[in-house]
Amino acid sequence: MKTVLEERKSSICGNRDRGISCERESVSGAVSQRACVYCGARVVLNPITDAYHIVHGPIGCASYTWDIRGSLTSGADTFRNSFSTDLRETDIVFGGAKKLTAAIDELMEKTKPSPKLIFIFATCIVGVIGDDVDAVCRSAEAKYGIRVIPVKAPGFAGTKSLGYRLACDAIMNLIRPHAKQHKPQKRFGVNILGDFNLAGEMWIIRGYLEQIGIPVISTITGDSSYKTLLQAPSATLNIVQCAGSSAYLAERMESEFGIKSVKVSFFGVEDTVNSLLNIAEALGRQEIMEKAQKFAEEQALQVLPIIEKYKPHLKGKKAAIFVGGGFKAISLIRQFNELGMEAVVVGTQTGKKDEYEVINSLVNSDAIVLDDANPAELERFMTEKQADILVGGVKERPLAYKLGLAFCDHNHERKHPLAGFEGIENFVKEIYTSINSPVWKYA
Ligand code: SF4
Repeated sequence: MKTVLEERKSSICGNRDRGISCERESVSGAVSQRACVYCGARVVLNPITDAYHIVHGPIGCASYTWDIRGSLTSGADTFRNSFSTDLRETDIVFGGAKKLTAAIDELMEKTKPSPKLIFIFATCIVGVIGDDVDAVCRSAEAKYGIRVIPVKAPGFAGTKSLGYRLACDAIMNLIRPHAKQHKPQKRFGVNILGDFNLAGEMWIIRGYLEQIGIPVISTITGDSSYKTLLQAPSATLNIVQCAGSSAYLAERMESEFGIKSVKVSFFGVEDTVNSLLNIAEALGRQEIMEKAQKFAEEQALQVLPIIEKYKPHLKGKKAAIFVGGGFKAISLIRQFNELGMEAVVVGTQTGKKDEYEVINSLVNSDAIVLDDANPAELERFMTEKQADILVGGVKERPLAYKLGLAFCDHNHERKHPLAGFEGIENFVKEIYTSINSPVWKYA
């Protein structure tokens, strides 16, 4: 295949070949679209609204801030700030631990409200020089009586998925000691895992659950706080929205706190309705099940006419999808099918084997399915398959525009919700407007 490196071929499936190589490190020199380990950890932890985040590394790593991950808050907005130890050559030679201690001291002295929770992200260079970040965190905890949690996430240590795991470990590190000490009483209600409240999406889902009669105990991590996270062990059920980032946390919470979990997706009519019903079923209460059925039916009936209105203008169009996780890609394929469109290229940064099997079962046999793609591959397959629109994130947007293709931002930078029944309307209108824009005639 032209423009495809030999080492990458096993991660790309077309025509009859459907086995895919995934869940492995990126091929050196392939210019992967995938984010690094540190970025994976930051995605999960950054939405904790009253946490302070210190990036222990060169200033470049700290460019990853709230501004490119716009999760919303109903309380504190501390998380919109970013702090860095700004490591330089001399620190790399003589070590950066003192600088990190000084950064924590400065934060404690100068910031208001006074920090209760600080995450220390150790990035690539710290992984190389070997600062004892654990020791610095332990001594800061002892000195100030607050939680200072290390997240040792050098970008080179693995894939973005490792970053997710490290973030989940950090959350467990936060809540476990409290749970051990206070032994929380079980309460009827759920934790929402893996929703980062982009454009207020978590509030939409929380609203649905509350209308059905399901209390939300804790949200991890969209619109969460130090205090609300500590309540998580008392929940009856975990609902896992972004499985890629949070399925591991759900497993840990099941083994340590006995909380069962159910995977959900609130993208598209089919997945939103099924998710509400699955949550109600998992909770095992008849009245909740009946309410969920009634609510889902009513909401679906309201949104279906919108789909029918736009469907004739979208039927037969071809979509390319490149997103973070497999679960979202699956929902998007279903959403395009609901609109009469076909997904001709489908890729993810961190999809798992079983997710790719579902993806393959949903697309036509000649669709291209690829893991951990790079720009050259995406451009090639979008052109070959004559895609009309690309759904992706900020790194994919220029690829679409360069090719004169419509684009839909389905990542953390967007400002309008795409989840839930409200999100379906936004999504359909955005796809319609973007594909049918007259601008593509002039590209
Ligand atoms: S952790 Fe490493 S790969 Fe990630 S942004 Fe920093 S330097 Fe780059």
